[in-house]
Amino acid sequence: DIVAQESVTFEEILVSDQVLSGLKKSGFHKPSPIQLKAIPLGRCGFDLVVQAKSGTGKTCVFSVVALDSINPKSVSTQVIVLAPTREIALQIHDVVSAIGQDIANLSTQVFIGGTLVSDDRQKAKHCHIAIGSPGRIKQLISLGVLLVNNVRLFVLDEADKLIEEGSLQEQINWIYSTLPSNKQMLALSATYPEVLAQFLTKYMRQPTFVRLNPRDPSLLGLKQYYLVVSLCKLPHQLYEEKTRHIIDILSSIPYQQALVFSNYHTRAESLCQALNSAGWPSTFISGSMEQWRRTEAINRLKTYKCRILISTDLTSRGIDAQNVDMVINMDIPHEWETYMHRIGRAGRFGGHGTAISLVSPGNEVTRLHAIAAECNASIFPLPKDLLSLN
Ligand code: ADP
Ligand code: MG
Repeated sequence: DIVAQESVTFEEILVSDQVLSGLKKSGFHKPSPIQLKAIPLGRCGFDLVVQAKSGTGKTCVFSVVALDSINPKSVSTQVIVLAPTREIALQIHDVVSAIGQDIANLSTQVFIGGTLVSDDRQKAKHCHIAIGSPGRIKQLISLGVLLVNNVRLFVLDEADKLIEEGSLQEQINWIYSTLPSNKQMLALSATYPEVLAQFLTKYMRQPTFVRLNPRDPSLLGLKQYYLVVSLCKLPHQLYEEKTRHIIDILSSIPYQQALVFSNYHTRAESLCQALNSAGWPSTFISGSMEQWRRTEAINRLKTYKCRILISTDLTSRGIDAQNVDMVINMDIPHEWETYMHRIGRAGRFGGHGTAISLVSPGNEVTRLHAIAAECNASIFPLPKDLLSLN
């Protein structure tokens, strides 16, 4: 059900000609089910909460609504899109620019931390659609660099993440308070926890819910496995044991590109070193790195310059790299939502993929089973014959 439906085309949901040609040039010919449901409602001006699994095409939902709503003749910021990480903001910018490529004089800009505010001044002067991380957008509004009195659409991508962290939530509250009261709001997320519901009721006026299979994470074509490693007394032994298994997995199971997640920055970094010295060229990314390094790491993945990206949960959400078909969890995340987001990096838009979680006997196995139950997932023991170590 994830892939586009045969019958309906974008023409039939009446998007404008310019957006239509941008969609075609970006390779989007038929709307996915969530796009089919949400785009018409969004274009009617409703406040929407769009909840659908990873990789179902939520970016295109708000991109089309945004592009169809702006008046390119008026030089003013009319849409603000917030994303929880800078990398997602950059990715959204790519999608909106691609779909908007045939709209004359359109200016779409991205504003993120880790870059110079002075560069933003020029960009903000002519910007119809401002996409960014909450911190930088807040800063630019408060400096009077970004003028928001003509904003008509406010989008929260990965809304659950945006409001989960205290500081981000404050920044969003602040940004919201500066926007004109008469505006449309869209919130997009793969999960819809109670805290998000409460947060949104403060802001949205009778939002319409657009959902596809809520709480069903069985991403089409994605196989989920776990591997119980031997019992280790010390944390570093467990880490070494898991490293050994990761190398085994990477050498025995076919994949195009792999993402390996750890809960810990230091472990992720040393795993990256270990893989590189074992002859598996790998790239490391974490939120504590300088922005240009982070951007470079994501670009290496997207342009196929690296096959293995080792990451903290910075990239567990939103990042869309078409050829990632293997996700390895070196550690089990604390929340089931994070598990779903991580494995959602493989099997984008209905593709095939494998997710493997490494667990120690006892505690971690129990936690993984609890997560599987929470998100209604079937996770199987990794068949031993797939591996060489056994
Ligand atoms: P989500 O935000 O729901 O996790 P994305 O918006 O990142 O998903 O989209 C996932 C992938 O699906 C992207 O690679 C995107 O280019 C592709 N995609 C989205 N909509 C369509 C469509 N209508 N036709 C073809 N590909 C699409
Ligand atoms: Mg997304």
